[in-house]
Amino acid sequence: MRSISIFGATGSVGTSTLDLVRQDRSAWGVKVLTANRNAGALAALAREFNVQDAVVADENCLPELRDALAGSGIAVSGGRAALCEAAAITADVTVAAIVGCAGLEPVMAAIEQGNTIALANKEALVSAGEVMTAAVKNHGATLLPVDSEHNAIFQCLQGGRTEDVRWITLTASGGPLRTWSQERLAAATPAQAVAHPNWDMGAKISVDSATMFNKGLELIEAHHLFPVGLDKLRIVVHPQSVIHSMVEYRDGSTLAQLGPSDMKVPIASCLAWPGRMDTPCEPLDLAGIGTLTFETPDEDRFPATRLAREAALAGGAAPAVLNAANEVAVAAFLDGKIQFTQIAVVVANTLANYAPPPPATLADVMAIDTDARARASAMLESN
Ligand code: NDP
Repeated sequence: MRSISIFGATGSVGTSTLDLVRQDRSAWGVKVLTANRNAGALAALAREFNVQDAVVADENCLPELRDALAGSGIAVSGGRAALCEAAAITADVTVAAIVGCAGLEPVMAAIEQGNTIALANKEALVSAGEVMTAAVKNHGATLLPVDSEHNAIFQCLQGGRTEDVRWITLTASGGPLRTWSQERLAAATPAQAVAHPNWDMGAKISVDSATMFNKGLELIEAHHLFPVGLDKLRIVVHPQSVIHSMVEYRDGSTLAQLGPSDMKVPIASCLAWPGRMDTPCEPLDLAGIGTLTFETPDEDRFPATRLAREAALAGGAAPAVLNAANEVAVAAFLDGKIQFTQIAVVVANTLANYAPPPPATLADVMAIDTDARARASAMLESN
């Protein structure tokens, strides 16, 4: 039996992970499950999986969690510090599936314990960059990429040498608004932006997918996970989301990973690594799909990938600033406070007006994140 902890258990990735655990309950012991405010759903999962610890990040929700788990013998706690304490508990796999930079401190706590982390929480790696990769090295931790593109690249690199890589190509679906004109994009509603054609995901990443910030964040994520150099990372739009990414080697061979658009596939790849496990996903029906198409990203209508590449090139604090401003802008868009096309404007303006020194520690990253959020929020209010 292997042990597993899931941070962000009530979300889209968390739920898919638990579906895989349900497939063979005798194979897994669930140690920790966490949520932000959704104490009711967390309590139900905690009872179902008979976990050791259940944690709500928002301390105000602790009384509800405590009531719901009274008499169960499950330890309950709440707040940011409790989340980090739970992340420091040793498990065979720690799934990092909290959304946003809010997941960074628990991920770092798990890394400092030398744990194996299945990382979905891309914002944490984008924000902390070198601080996180240095911690992974220093503490002998293992990062396994859950993001479908990075998981694909990870698989395509097995048996290959980094110095032999000519290109790493991240595929992008282009999101639900891919073919929209600039004028239509300006009027896009939250409901239209989250209606992803291929993937069923949480609201924040769905908006990121529509703006292409998701691909921008993934470019920075790939830069840290696969250090081949930024100039060897490129993006191609592939609306069918069948090829999840590709690696081209110097001899002209391109290896691609294909699969259904279901996060259970890359999650299973991490849970079973270095082996394989079954998933309930339908096999790929290539004849049924028929055609795979590819397009160059349009960075005039979707400037996010350009902004992300510039932030990655600038390095230092820039990716953390980009991420924080994007989180603030996406929340404002989902609240109906700004237009869809203003998300990239808020990010670009925050980057242009705030260039703190490079972070050397986790505390530095958190301070940059806090400052960048305050600046982006102030920008929203002044508009
Ligand atoms: P969801 O919004 O569906 O779920 C987020 C989870 O994090 C929930 O459990 C939520 O709890 C918890 N959470 C939210 N805010 C906080 C906070 N401030 N502190 C602690 N916990 C919090 O997100 P997704 O599952 O879609 O995405 C999770 C991560 O995985 C993101 O970084 C995303 O980019 C990445 N990812 C997601 C994919 C997908 O298919 N969904 C694909 C690839 C990557 P509560 O329920 O209480 O709100």
